[in-house]
Amino acid sequence: MKAQIKLFKVLGIQIGLHYSWLLIALLVVLSLAGQFAATNPQWGSNIIWGLAILTAILFFAAIIVHELSHAAVAKARGLPVRSITLFALGGVAQIEKEAPDARTEFWMGIAGPITSLIIGAVCLFFAGAVGWTPTRDQHSPLAAMLGWLGVINIALSVFNMVPGFPLDGGRVLRAIIWWITGSASRATRAATTIGQLVAFAFILFGLFRFFNGAGFAGLWLTFIGWFLLDAARSSYAQFEILQRLRDLRVADVMSTDWPVVNGSMTLQTFVENYLLRSGQRYFIVEENSRVVGMLTLHEVKDVDRERWPQLSVRDVMRPLTKLHAVGPSSSLTEALETMGREDVNQLPVMSNGHLEGIVSRRHILRLLQTRAELQG
Ligand SMILES: [Zn+2]
Repeated sequence: MKAQIKLFKVLGIQIGLHYSWLLIALLVVLSLAGQFAATNPQWGSNIIWGLAILTAILFFAAIIVHELSHAAVAKARGLPVRSITLFALGGVAQIEKEAPDARTEFWMGIAGPITSLIIGAVCLFFAGAVGWTPTRDQHSPLAAMLGWLGVINIALSVFNMVPGFPLDGGRVLRAIIWWITGSASRATRAATTIGQLVAFAFILFGLFRFFNGAGFAGLWLTFIGWFLLDAARSSYAQFEILQRLRDLRVADVMSTDWPVVNGSMTLQTFVENYLLRSGQRYFIVEENSRVVGMLTLHEVKDVDRERWPQLSVRDVMRPLTKLHAVGPSSSLTEALETMGREDVNQLPVMSNGHLEGIVSRRHILRLLQTRAELQG
């Protein structure tokens, strides 16, 4: 899930929004305003709308804090965290590596629900202090806001502890099975299966509620179930791929011949005679038969077309010093992690300052397909 709207950074982690979040933010504000208007019409529309917006903002802030708690455990255990993105169904923290052991996985998973539980309890405590009770409808604006935030955060904590992978509860379950059996792959398989059963239960229960007149609320449950089913399937597929990649070295798959261009060529000539003719996405740039950098479609796209005749390949390429190279003995998992972090599709393979080969995403993907077909 990539953020389309970037907000700010906390602890070096980029916080962002996916477009789908806008829809849910609107729904939350509308339903809060509706609820406040029905229970406390005496507040007047300015307070009702202002409070609905403020409550919604605090709710999403609480979700960010929940995700930050996962991220903090990950960081403390040495796993890099790139970003936190809010989307239609909550938030996700992009943690770039799988947990290395069951203990890390356990604490990383359970940190979120514990945080939400604490936020909920604190809100309810202060709500109670200003006169909020769950059975009464009429409240002061502050009490109504704190009461709602308290209940929703506790509900969030409980929902996240549903033992379906990839929900937090599923991660915790996976960690426990992993710890007992000592096998990460067996634990993942078990947690995924349970996750799919939970997802089916959501779908069936949602449909049942829908046909019994629950309307939108029923469809919503079905939708969450469908999302969980999809998420369980794709996170398992990803895990399988990572398992297979772990045993392979970069040297096993890198390509050892690469297209070369000269650094003094103009960008215009490069695009017309090389890029558009060969269908290659990357070129190694040489000067006096020495490798000086790499040029890809990516860099070319960042330059205005009018400037192509004036600039040389050397001006636009990524110089060797800025390329994040991997060694021939690095694992493919490491290579893919580097590509993800640097947002590139290929990496040079260097040893002792010498270019040994190129490893690309496309290449790794093709290799996996071939292997899968041979096995099947
Ligand atoms: Zn969580």
